[in-house]
Amino acid sequence: MPRFILSPRGLLACLITACLAQSVIAADAPASSSASALTTANNAAVLQHLPFSDRTDFESISRGLIAPFTGQVKDASGKVIWDIQSYEFLDKDQAPASVNPSLWRLAQLNAHAGLFEVSPKIYQVRGLDLANMTIIEGDDGLIIIDPLTVAETAKTALDLYYQNRPHKPVVAVIYSHTHVDHFGGVRGVIDEADVKAGKVKVYAPAGFMEHVMSENVFAGTAMSRRAQFQFGSLLPRGEKGQLDAGLGKSSPSGGTVTLIPPTDLIDKDLETRTIAGIEVEFQLTPGTEAPAEMNLYLPQFRALCMAENATQMMHNILTPRGAQVRDAKAWSQYLDSSLARYGAKSDVLFAQHNWPTWGGERIRTFLADQRDMYAFLNDRTLHLLNQGLTPLEVADAIKTLPGALDQKWYTRGYYGSLSFNVRAVYQRYLGFYDGNPSNLNPLPPVETAKRTVEAMGGSAAVLEKMRAAMTQGDYRWAAQLGNHLLFAEPDNVAGRNAQAEALEQLGYQSENATWRNMYLTGAMELRNGVPQHAGSSVSVDMMQAMTPDMFFDYLAIRLDSEKAVGHDLTLNWTFEDQNQDFNLTLRNGVLTHRAGLNPAADAGVTLSKATLEQISLKQLDFPTAIQKGLIKLQGNGKKLGELLGSVDTFSPQFNIVTP
Ligand SMILES: [Zn+2]
Repeated sequence: MPRFILSPRGLLACLITACLAQSVIAADAPASSSASALTTANNAAVLQHLPFSDRTDFESISRGLIAPFTGQVKDASGKVIWDIQSYEFLDKDQAPASVNPSLWRLAQLNAHAGLFEVSPKIYQVRGLDLANMTIIEGDDGLIIIDPLTVAETAKTALDLYYQNRPHKPVVAVIYSHTHVDHFGGVRGVIDEADVKAGKVKVYAPAGFMEHVMSENVFAGTAMSRRAQFQFGSLLPRGEKGQLDAGLGKSSPSGGTVTLIPPTDLIDKDLETRTIAGIEVEFQLTPGTEAPAEMNLYLPQFRALCMAENATQMMHNILTPRGAQVRDAKAWSQYLDSSLARYGAKSDVLFAQHNWPTWGGERIRTFLADQRDMYAFLNDRTLHLLNQGLTPLEVADAIKTLPGALDQKWYTRGYYGSLSFNVRAVYQRYLGFYDGNPSNLNPLPPVETAKRTVEAMGGSAAVLEKMRAAMTQGDYRWAAQLGNHLLFAEPDNVAGRNAQAEALEQLGYQSENATWRNMYLTGAMELRNGVPQHAGSSVSVDMMQAMTPDMFFDYLAIRLDSEKAVGHDLTLNWTFEDQNQDFNLTLRNGVLTHRAGLNPAADAGVTLSKATLEQISLKQLDFPTAIQKGLIKLQGNGKKLGELLGSVDTFSPQFNIVTP
């Protein structure tokens, strides 16, 4: 992580793909446990509850295959950054005992990688990223919808297309929404010089750049750490490890995240453009899966692209890596608008994850079911919370989706989960407090754990109860007991091993890919410790997208208030190349800023935004920049040093499963 501001490349890449990290595995670390008899039985029972004989999705994922992709993608240094081969173990028909068969089925589907024809003129590269790249053949060139997460995989995807289709230039890129797996590879498919020359256009929904940055930066270090859990990026691939990330496969490590700002923003609810001779109707869907997102309808192909608003599973209302909670009601309403507007005139529906749906009737049922699912999450939660149920009670009360929805593969919780999503709806309307005054001011986790363990008769007694619970297959309770034990005694080796086993069994039973990843990553860290983060290089594109305003907002977050108390100061900042001035006030250990200069400031700092970017990229530090004359100081220059001396650097290596 860079010293001065959080690396957006680091955080954005970590959010979706993986962090450049190496786990420190103790030579004598115990191996992960095998599926217990109860886990095996539980997983076997899943086969009776879901319609495994329906093979439509396997036909859909294979339909239109032009060229499979079986290789790896490496970065410039030769490091493997995409490895579909590592998922070859999914070949087996039968799910192993350590995998929920429903998740095994999804993991098999998502392992289909290659170039596919969706319909004549519409192609998708799947399995080269968590997301899909869609390529539309226009009259005078190609339109690319969503160029994947990193430039290396995006280039490989486009090369795969060119090896099999006529070589036409890319004349337009469309970013369907603000998440990095939908734009980060853009420099792998187009050249910015062509964009500047007007040869290539880049389309995005209104608010794109603001949301790309603001959605993730301020809590970014914690998000990237939690994303390691969600995507299971550091887990070995295998029957007892990571097999999927729900929306697709995930990267074992980095690659180059890039960004070229859009040239054309879509800002009307419905807007029609002709791009490369193809008519495209954009439907804006703000506040759904992303704060700025849009669907596309292609009338001449009778094709509907649902971006990430309708994938082959239940999506997240609140993603476990952490984010601001989404609006299930708005999501449902936009799905209904899409159904009403395009349902009768679509022969194929595709999205930027998973596989397409063909046939008007199936498309209409799919959209109606997805609409009902998100509406149910919202309305049923509100129905129950108005009867006094609190978050965990709501989650316990809603075990399945209603009616026929429960038996549809595309409503299963592989990425989002029913349990998590209904708690998210509660959070959206009522917040984290459950209304019970006993919970107004509870003791923090370590204190609670110590007293609970003592009240239960000490750690040996807790461990015994934990093992008894595991014998009964009651792994949820065992994990709760184990958590108290470890927060009271983090070095209790028997406790760590027992807790790792409880989490592994929960992971093996999970239908949800991200839950499995989180359980198994927790277990891995209990057995092997927290992975050492090798750090990651900073994306120049991301840094350039950061405004001075955001820089100061983030500086205020990094300020250690306790150190800063007693160092009151005011500083003027002039960005000479931007014609922008700011004044910063440090007062009461709190840093605030506003536009304009303060005539009474203690000191003035004059620099270019490029210098600030260089400092952020760790290519330069403040003293050197001052020495070289890149930063000019006026007044009491020591005040800048006082401010910088109170600023912390965040490390994403904090503990999660232990205090
Ligand atoms: Zn995505």
